[in-house]
Amino acid sequence: MEQGNLRSQRRRRTLDRRLREAKLLLRGAIDTDHPVMAHIIPIRRCNLSCTYCNEYDTYSKPVPLETLRHRLELLGNLRTGVITLSGGEPLLHPDLDNVIRSIRKNAILAGLITNGYLLTADRVKRLNDAGLDYLQISIDNVMPDDVSKKSLKVLDKKLQILAEYADFHVNINSVLGGGIRNPEDALVVGKRAMQLGFTSTVGIIHDGDGQLRPLADREREVFLEMKKFEKKHFSRVNGFQTKIANGEASDWRCRAGSRYLYVCEDGLVHYCSQQRGFPAKPLEDYTVEDIRREYLTQKSCAPFCTVSCVHQIAYFDSFRGKQTRTVEPEPREQVVTIKKAARV
Ligand code: SF4
Ligand code: SF4
Repeated sequence: MEQGNLRSQRRRRTLDRRLREAKLLLRGAIDTDHPVMAHIIPIRRCNLSCTYCNEYDTYSKPVPLETLRHRLELLGNLRTGVITLSGGEPLLHPDLDNVIRSIRKNAILAGLITNGYLLTADRVKRLNDAGLDYLQISIDNVMPDDVSKKSLKVLDKKLQILAEYADFHVNINSVLGGGIRNPEDALVVGKRAMQLGFTSTVGIIHDGDGQLRPLADREREVFLEMKKFEKKHFSRVNGFQTKIANGEASDWRCRAGSRYLYVCEDGLVHYCSQQRGFPAKPLEDYTVEDIRREYLTQKSCAPFCTVSCVHQIAYFDSFRGKQTRTVEPEPREQVVTIKKAARV
């Protein structure tokens, strides 16, 4: 496609996406009985093995397309606004384009979180054709090391391909904490993202329960330096993250299980990737009553939680819906151990 046609196609797609986002925002603001966002896992397997990650394995098979389609329909029935495909590495799923088409068919915005390794010009064009709305790549460092291979050196070519061909919104997330060696790398990654016309966010790596690991001094300095660029749209960081950077508890209402759902490869609804095991109810049986209950449930892990997508969704309801019920999720390792023991 010629450069001029490509630009006008991009403009049309952006306008269309913004209109659908506006509807989602309006619905999210006036009605609390539906999830604003769900993450769904089409495959748990990953082609990388970042040492801080507890969300992948090396052997799982892809969830069959028909099973995923059924889950997407169920999320559509719950009137979910955005569905983001996560993993593992979702690009390893052989039917991913059809999964994205099914999301869009249910009038839902479609997002994808990927490590970017499998992106090619052709793959990006197929994602355009399937109707993808958002893509996020997390880049952990400038040079690959033993903690993470998601480095700018390896992925810069992929970013250039995205800049040239992607019709969808691209966000580059950089991270601090969790053993990432050079905190300054986050600045380099953020600047490169801006240069290529993408948005940029910074996240803080959490421990196995989604809880805060305090940042070291230099990490905190870099974090605050990135925050200074916020007004220039260099990066989007929220007030809660500033508290996290300072090692302080955050006072907020986690709406996981209600406004945000995490649907694992087995089709169970969990609070989030870091609290798998709660409430662990089949999506098939999840109803608006569950959404209402969890909306009013205070989670004991909230004060030091670093799961940023759930924080962001919580802004919709920060001024309403006082939580009257409490739950204390067990540490994730304990839940996994109990489940493994139950299988034996
Ligand atoms: S690429 Fe993502 S899913 Fe895969 S191991 Fe790294 S952090 Fe985990
Ligand atoms: S506060 Fe909510 S998002 Fe954070 S770890 Fe707990 S359940 Fe997950």
